[in-house]
Amino acid sequence: MRFETDAIHAGQEPDPTTGAVVVPIYATSTYAQESPGVHLGYEYSRTGNPTRRALEIALAALEGVREGSAGGAVATSSGMGATSIIGYTLKPGDHVLLPNDAYGGTFRFFARVLAEQGVEWSAVDMTEQRLVRTAVRPNTRVIWAETPTNPMLRLVDIEAVAAVSKEAGTILVVDNTFATPFLQQPLALGADVVLHSTTKYLGGHSDVVGGALVTRDPDLFARLEYLINAAGPIAGPFDSWLVLRGLKTLAVRMQRHSENALKIAEFLEAHPSVMTVNYPGLQSHPQRDLAARQMLTGGGMISFRPHGGIEAANRISTATKLFFLAESLGGVESLIEVPASMTHASVDGTALEVPPDLIRLSVGIEHVDDLLEDLDRALA
Ligand SMILES: *Cc1c(COP(=O)(O)O)cnc(C)c1O
Repeated sequence: MRFETDAIHAGQEPDPTTGAVVVPIYATSTYAQESPGVHLGYEYSRTGNPTRRALEIALAALEGVREGSAGGAVATSSGMGATSIIGYTLKPGDHVLLPNDAYGGTFRFFARVLAEQGVEWSAVDMTEQRLVRTAVRPNTRVIWAETPTNPMLRLVDIEAVAAVSKEAGTILVVDNTFATPFLQQPLALGADVVLHSTTKYLGGHSDVVGGALVTRDPDLFARLEYLINAAGPIAGPFDSWLVLRGLKTLAVRMQRHSENALKIAEFLEAHPSVMTVNYPGLQSHPQRDLAARQMLTGGGMISFRPHGGIEAANRISTATKLFFLAESLGGVESLIEVPASMTHASVDGTALEVPPDLIRLSVGIEHVDDLLEDLDRALA
């Protein structure tokens, strides 16, 4: 089936016992067995739960991994829960290559938490294949890419980095949270694992925290399933249900997020109070050809720097009324934030530092004219 259809049907057959068209929330920790070890496929809800299973089948399908193929998805308690599962595949002395503008929490996990366990890391500008190739070390096990990057909205050529990863025999993990599988399909471009914070666009309504990992590789999938059960950061049944509900409208939401964001990016670019605008859908984006090749549309995230420095950034981000001043992204409502003092405070003083006057917008699906008027007032 095509994307929009899979989003509504993959893993979501009517419930066999009642015919319910929506996958029920299986709020149960355990399952009755017919005789010791003989059961209907579920034994304990950390190991497997039907609501989570439905979400995993749907997520895998959306990333191009069909039910019945050897790969699949694991749904985790949060995006960081998914990241921590990748962490468990590493041992002391292994090296992780990070992008130099990774999500702040990803950076904190590898550079602070795993570094204490003896896992090495370094960060590189992944927008150039040459730089990635030079940064790979003999002990590199994982290359971590994020595209579009947060909050600079730069793009990484997934195919180019996948080629380096194959040469080096490493595992390429692509954090696809910003683009979503509707706009970009990293596995088809050569990535080994896709990571999601389903908290963002996949859930889409700012009412759940969750994550996922998806792979086509049967051995890797078996390892991820083993680790999620062994370590335990699973998505609960209600959270899985909320994400499933969100997935159904992902395609239409992403279309509207992108349309609104493009209009807002063009408006900002023409505004005298704005110095620079970062948006992959803009003609002025330095990687617009890559954007056209790799992404369906530019997505819903924009960052920009106003004239007037931090003071101006703080003033604008507190002056909007529709754009709530808040962390996170990907919900139906518009959000505004200053990454350096909010989401990216943990990268302060490192190679991943972001400009202190940068403002990030998560453009929602409200009427675009209301959003434009709100920004226009705040910029005045
Ligand atoms: C939010 C986010 C994460 C972490 O996900 P949580 O669900 O908050 O744990 C990872 N990567 C990106 C790009 C994110 O935006």
